[in-house]
Amino acid sequence: MIIPVRCFSCGRVIATDYIKFREEVEKIKKSENRNPTSEEINNIFDELGVKRYCCRRMIVSHIDLIDEVINFD
Ligand SMILES: [Zn+2]
Repeated sequence: MIIPVRCFSCGRVIATDYIKFREEVEKIKKSENRNPTSEEINNIFDELGVKRYCCRRMIVSHIDLIDEVINFD
C-alpha cells in the first residue's frame, strides 16, 4: 500500500529515505535506460545512511499499490 513510516524491526524512520531512494533509482533508469545494479542500490543506501538490513528490506521489498487499490473504494 503505502510505505510504513518506521521500520518494523528497529523503529528507524524510513519513509523519508524511501522517497529519496525512489528518486535516485528513477535517475538511473532515465539516464541509462536500465534498472540499477545491486552495487548501485547498495551505494544509494550508503549515501542515505540506511545501514541495517532490516531497514533496507523495508525499502527494497516495498511495492506501491495505493493507486491500484484506490479504484475499488
Ligand atoms: Zn530497521
